[in-house]
Amino acid sequence: MTDKMPVLFVGHGNPMNVIEENEFSRAWDAAGKSLPKPKAIICISAHWVTRGTLVTAMDKPRTIYDFYGFPPEMYEIRYDAPGAPDLAEQVRRIIKNTEVKPDLNWGLDHGTWTVLKRMFPKADVPVIQMSLDANIEAPKHYEVSRQLKELREEGVLIIGSGNIVHNLRMARFDDSAYDWAVDFDQRIAKWISQNDHEPIIHYEKGDQASALAINTAEHYVPLLYSLALKDENEPVSFFADKVMGGSISMRSVRIG
Ligand code: ZN
Repeated sequence: MTDKMPVLFVGHGNPMNVIEENEFSRAWDAAGKSLPKPKAIICISAHWVTRGTLVTAMDKPRTIYDFYGFPPEMYEIRYDAPGAPDLAEQVRRIIKNTEVKPDLNWGLDHGTWTVLKRMFPKADVPVIQMSLDANIEAPKHYEVSRQLKELREEGVLIIGSGNIVHNLRMARFDDSAYDWAVDFDQRIAKWISQNDHEPIIHYEKGDQASALAINTAEHYVPLLYSLALKDENEPVSFFADKVMGGSISMRSVRIG
């Protein structure tokens, strides 16, 4: 148990968190310091949705600026962590319930590098990304991730990066939160704490709050990748838990 690498889900929110000093960026700094140094990192980011499941397999993944209208300094930040082609190959081998294809074009999108730049600023841990297959449903995402469990024993840190509540259409530029957003976020938090993953996986059976919270699923689904790696009796804790901008939950989860 002690040798097993924890698993994270990070609510990444605004890319500006990487350069701003705020409660979230500070929580990421602290989370990075509290972890044993990983052998490698696998990040499942909301910002890489593909047909089929892909895994980055290049030696040197590029930093991708997949956002628009941000200050110039945001486009100058680089996160030059090495890739891990061997780990990508291992992922392809151990995931048996879907085909995972190697990818040489992607790199590290902002769901990955804005978080890792704070957690592991030296960029000396190899990083690969695994994509979200647009053609599969939530229960299948959970099952695919489950197969990665053994990598925790080998010192691999697996991070899901998204947001539990993410509705940009309804977002507001202030610090407030819609009642339905807080409601949904707390409901999910309770189920996470109770180790009750079924209602989290089957969120689409929920009420209007879940329809608003998850108006598109790509920011929610990375949570399923993180939860799938949890052992029944493992502790969970939250290292951020705020809903902001009306409809963005920054809740972040540590398992183990
Ligand atoms: Zn995002």
